[in-house]
Amino acid sequence: MEKLFAIFGDPVAHSRSPLMHNSVFKHLNYKACYTRVHLTDGSKLKETFLALGLSGANITVPHKEAAYAACDEVRGFAKKVGVVNTIINENGHLIGYNTDADGFMFAIKEFGDIKNILVLGAGGTAKALCAKFIDAGIKVTLLNRSQERLAYFRELGCDCFTWENFELKKYDLVVNTTSAGLKDEELPAPSELIEKILDNTSFVADAIYGKATPFLKLTQSKNIICKDGADMLLGQGVLANELFVNHELKTDDIKKYMSKSFEL
Ligand code: NDP
Repeated sequence: MEKLFAIFGDPVAHSRSPLMHNSVFKHLNYKACYTRVHLTDGSKLKETFLALGLSGANITVPHKEAAYAACDEVRGFAKKVGVVNTIINENGHLIGYNTDADGFMFAIKEFGDIKNILVLGAGGTAKALCAKFIDAGIKVTLLNRSQERLAYFRELGCDCFTWENFELKKYDLVVNTTSAGLKDEELPAPSELIEKILDNTSFVADAIYGKATPFLKLTQSKNIICKDGADMLLGQGVLANELFVNHELKTDDIKKYMSKSFEL
């Protein structure tokens, strides 16, 4: 029987995941189809997943923490961070994983040895990335517009600030994990602050892909080496697909056809 997979998010229309996974399924003759579901209420994730008879799913903004709560069991790195971006249906049990952080580590390899990162934003993506960075021995500073979510990051060992009390230092890499610029034209922090931050970093990465955000445009105007979220998307997608097909396909083949979908 053909398997059905989906991505849940709000917004979700922009997501390239259906193209990426369907490209792999089609070229490698794997009997499956991948669609998108616009979900506004994260607490309805589990019932919607089961009602659609899904074999697996990806979860994007803003439901990754709701996805953690929706799972019957959470494995690996996702368990540590409380953030799930991939769910597998194992005999009616929802098993949660996180492939975002490893996907991001793959994306920043080309920047070389990174020792000191400033993370903008404190949502689900930031949680996963910061935990991975700390595990890798990287010094992490976090800047968010509001206080509420900072406790988790303090406990992890990050230096945490809001826009009001931020103390600028020098960074190897600045990563935007906020959703500023995704559906609007906002910067991830007030422009005076962003200007100063950009003047004190070697590299920049934005988690948002498929769109030059105001943040990325400003970065480019300063001739700083930067990248959008496309490679992170590819990295997390390859790892999620391996879980979807239960490792029945070769990783190199998955990567090849997933990369091909970026040309579409
Ligand atoms: P969450 O909703 O969990 O967190 C969003 C964060 O952004 C919060 O810290 C929030 O601050 C902050 N924020 C939202 N709007 C603004 C704004 N206008 N100005 C400043 N800060 C803002 O989202 P996720 O962590 O799940 O996702 C974040 C982004 O990363 C999304 O754009 C998503 O598309 C992208 N992403 C890309 C991936 C890829 O593969 N390339 C993978 C995963 C995510 P506050 O706490 O104050 O509300």
